[in-house]
Amino acid sequence: MAQILDSTKLRRELHPLAEIGMDVKNTSAYVIRRLKEIGIDAHRVGETYGVTGYIDSGAPGPVIALRADMDALPFQQNGKTVAIHACGHDGHMAMLLEAASRLVGKIRRGKVKLIFQPAEEPITGAQALIKEGILDDVDIIIGAHVRPVQDLKPGTLCPSVCHTSSGHVHVTIHGKSSHAARPHLGVNAIYVATAIVNAVAQIHMNPENVWSVKPTQLCADDGAFNVVPATATLCFDFRGQTNELVKSLTEQMNRIFKNTAEAYGATVDVKYDVICPAANLDPDITEELAQCIRDTAGADRLAPGCGGGGEDFHFYKLAKPSIKNGYFGVGTGVTPGLHKINMTMDDTLLPMGSAVFVKFVLNHLG
Ligand SMILES: [Zn+2]
Ligand SMILES: [Zn+2]
Repeated sequence: MAQILDSTKLRRELHPLAEIGMDVKNTSAYVIRRLKEIGIDAHRVGETYGVTGYIDSGAPGPVIALRADMDALPFQQNGKTVAIHACGHDGHMAMLLEAASRLVGKIRRGKVKLIFQPAEEPITGAQALIKEGILDDVDIIIGAHVRPVQDLKPGTLCPSVCHTSSGHVHVTIHGKSSHAARPHLGVNAIYVATAIVNAVAQIHMNPENVWSVKPTQLCADDGAFNVVPATATLCFDFRGQTNELVKSLTEQMNRIFKNTAEAYGATVDVKYDVICPAANLDPDITEELAQCIRDTAGADRLAPGCGGGGEDFHFYKLAKPSIKNGYFGVGTGVTPGLHKINMTMDDTLLPMGSAVFVKFVLNHLG
C-alpha cells in the first residue's frame, strides 16, 4: 500500500521553511525528499531550485502537469528581513504532494508531471522553468491558489481564478534646470510629470473590462527649493483583464509619455518591468474543474469563479499556446488577507484542493 501524505501536516512542516524568490534551497530539498519517499524520482529543474518529477503509467497518453509555487514573501520585523509564507504557497506545495501520493500507481495512460516552481512573487520563476524546457512535453497544466475569505467562503472551491495582467512602467523626464527666478530659461520636469499624470488619467478603456492605471511614485528634486528641477521620475501601476487590453493601454501610455514631453521641450526614458500576463484559461478545462469540485466536495461547495491579483502561472499558456490550462481556487479561510504579515488559514481544508487535482488527473489518465 503506497504511503498517503497528509497536506495539513505537510503545510505545517513547510510553513517555517519559508524562503524567498529563486533561493528556495531548503524548501526544494524538502519537496524532493517527500517525493522520493512516495517513489517519485524527483530532481531540481536545471540549476534552479524548482523541482519536477513524473508519475509515469508506462503507457502512451497525454502529459498533465500539476503546478505549485514555492516561495514566501519578505517582511520587515524588528529591523530584520524575514521570510513568511503569507501567500499560502506552503499550502499549495502541501496540496500537490498529497495529490501526488494519491496518484502513485493509479494512472493507466500518459504521465503526471509535477512542477514545483520558485519565484512566483517576483514573477520570474515560471519564465526560468520555461527556459529549462519544462513545458516541452506538457499537454495540460493545472494550478491552484488558496483564497481569502473575501473571495471564497471557507470550505468552498471555485473552478477559475481570473487573474489580471499587471505591470509597472518607470518614466524618467529630462527637462532643463534653471534659477527659479528665471523659469523661462528652464524646462520644469514637474510640469511635464503632472501633465503626463493628468493625460494618463484621461485614458478610457472599454468599461466592460476590468482595468486600471494609476501613478504610484513621483519624485522631482534637484536639491534646492529655488532651482527649477531638470529631472523627474514617475511610476505607473497598471492592470487589465486581458493581454490585448494591456497592450492597447501601454500603447496609449507610450504616446502620452513621448508627445507630452515633446510638447514641453523635454525628453523621456520609458522602462517597463516584465508584464505579468492575464489568465487565459480554457473554458472546457474550467468546466471540467467545476465538475471535479462537484464530484469531490459536492455541488453546494462549488462557488463562481473569482478574480484579483496576478500570477506568473499565466506565462505557461503565453509561452506555449497549444497547452490547455486551468486554475482553481480553494477556500481555506485565509484571513485577514493574502500578503498580510499575520495571514492565517484553516489548513485542515487543504485536502479539498488535493482531491480536485486527483479527480482531474484520474478523469484523463485513470
Ligand atoms: Zn502572492
Ligand atoms: Zn500566491
